[in-house]
Amino acid sequence: MPTAVVTGGAGFLGSHLCDTLVADGYRVVCVDNLETGSLQNVEHLRGENFTFLNHDLTRHIEIDEAVDLIFHLASPASPIDYLRLPLQTLKVGSYGTHNALGLAKWKRARFLLASTSEVYGDPAVHPQPESYWGNVNPIGPRGVYDEAKRYAEALTMAYHRQQGVDTCIVRIFNTYGTRMRPYDGRAIPTFIRQAQANQPITVFGDGSQTRSFCYVDDLVRGLIALAKSGEHLPVNIGNPQELTLLQLAEAVIEATGSKSEIVFEALPVDDPQVRQPDITRARQLLGWEPQIPLEEGLRRMLQTHEREPTSV
Ligand code: NAD
Repeated sequence: MPTAVVTGGAGFLGSHLCDTLVADGYRVVCVDNLETGSLQNVEHLRGENFTFLNHDLTRHIEIDEAVDLIFHLASPASPIDYLRLPLQTLKVGSYGTHNALGLAKWKRARFLLASTSEVYGDPAVHPQPESYWGNVNPIGPRGVYDEAKRYAEALTMAYHRQQGVDTCIVRIFNTYGTRMRPYDGRAIPTFIRQAQANQPITVFGDGSQTRSFCYVDDLVRGLIALAKSGEHLPVNIGNPQELTLLQLAEAVIEATGSKSEIVFEALPVDDPQVRQPDITRARQLLGWEPQIPLEEGLRRMLQTHEREPTSV
């Protein structure tokens, strides 16, 4: 039975990845310090094929068994979290990624870095291909996240080129799904929470900025396909279906049948104007593309919310 380590495995994406890996016949070691994740997300997995290790990845890590794959997802990810935890975000992107790569080198495991579309900053190229080097403000409040991920990418390539570690890098675009925290500040759980309470839906700026939202099941399929491939250079995984934040708010109102009105609030500092993945490389290298349109993804989130009201 192959073994996979998932850092950040108790978080939103990590816990869905753990679910799929266990279902696919992997033994999974989930490493998480529960900074932004929750044991509730992985409780149902406890058993002989799943181990939870409460560990802060900025500290050295040892695992006493063979490891085949390491998915390195540990990092605060929502703006509310990384603005609250700026130093932890920089540390887990740097020391944490060193420690995860060191483990991969020791175990001769394939290593996947969960990077982000935020490495493109406020992009001058649209949609964003992997060849675009980005336009990031290193000293703005979001720099702690964007630059931590850019450093983690540089570090991953150095371990690959100089130390011979088998690595890959995924640049994840906005992803949504069940287990997102209602107050994590990201657009979809916030809009759903507000719509279900018939409260005003708060859109930043004039709502003309665009985003592209990928459903979590599509994303997890992409991560596993990349981990199983022989690719080393970054690959975008995201849904190219692009819409404005205003359109997103309207889609949530429709999906929930809410009576909410839309109100506008000040745009956060360095909020990117556009965001859309060019997924040519994912299509060609992995045969991957998303299959779940926004309406269906929202429907799945709302269905689960009715059954488990605490975990939108
Ligand atoms: P999340 O906050 O739900 O999960 C992150 C997990 O990492 C949490 O369980 C947290 O406790 C853990 N963690 C944080 N610091 C740690 C440390 N020092 N040691 C051990 N564990 C630590 O966020 P998510 O949305 O699931 O994001 C997961 C990864 O995917 C992140 O690396 C994020 O940058 C990346 N990503 C996510 C998105 C998205 O739309 N969700 C987009 C781009 C990139």
